Amino acid sequence: MNENISYPVVEIFRSLQGEGFNTGREMVFLRLGGCNLDCPWCDTDFTRFEMIPAAEIMRRIDSYGVKALLVTGGEPLIVKGLHALLEKFRSSGYWVAVETNGLAVAERDVLKLFDYITVSPKACYARLYYEATAVTRAHEVRVVAESNALEFCRFVGERIKAERYYISPCEREGVIDIETGVRLLGVLNQGDVRPPWLLSLQTHKLCGLR
Ligand code: SF4
Repeated sequence: MNENISYPVVEIFRSLQGEGFNTGREMVFLRLGGCNLDCPWCDTDFTRFEMIPAAEIMRRIDSYGVKALLVTGGEPLIVKGLHALLEKFRSSGYWVAVETNGLAVAERDVLKLFDYITVSPKACYARLYYEATAVTRAHEVRVVAESNALEFCRFVGERIKAERYYISPCEREGVIDIETGVRLLGVLNQGDVRPPWLLSLQTHKLCGLR
C-alpha cells in the first residue's frame, strides 16, 4: 500500500452495528466523504471531510483493538484508491464490511475485498437503478421505506441477488416511521416470497448510540 495516498474521512469511531443482520456486532466505523446521490432524508453530512493518509487511518482504526471494520459513507465505492486501503486491512486480519448505495463502483475489483456487502438502493433514485445497478450481488439488501418503495423493492429483489432483504423504516427530522415500513413488509411478503423481506430498525438511534 502506498501509505501516502490520502482518503476523504468524515469520521472514525467504534460502535455497535445498529441495523440489519449484524445488529449488535462491535465494529470500527470508517465514514468516507462524498456521495453520488442527494437523498432528501439523508442523515449524514458527507460534504465535510479531511484528507487523511492511509497510514494514519490504519493507526487510528488499530487503536480501538477491534478487528471488524465497516466502511460506509457517503458513498464509499466511488472513492478512488480504496482497493489499496482495503488490502492493508485484510492482510492485517480485519473482517471488512461495506455499506453502499450500489449505484456505481470506481474500482470493480474492490468488491472481492469485502467479507460482507450491504447494498442500500434508494427508491428516490429508482430511475437510475432501472438504467444501471453496479452492485448486483450482496449479502444483504436494505431498502428505506419511502412512499414509492413497493415497486422498487420488487425490482431490487430481482436485480440484486442477496441472502437477506430488509425494509428500513424512514427517519425524517428524528421521527422513525415504523408503521409505513411494517405495512410495506406486509404487502411485499404476500404469497410465497423467498427469502421473505425482514424488518431492520435503526436500533443504534433508538438506544442513543452513534
Ligand atoms: S446515498 Fe446515503 S449518504 Fe448518499 S445522499 Fe443518500 S442517504 Fe445520504
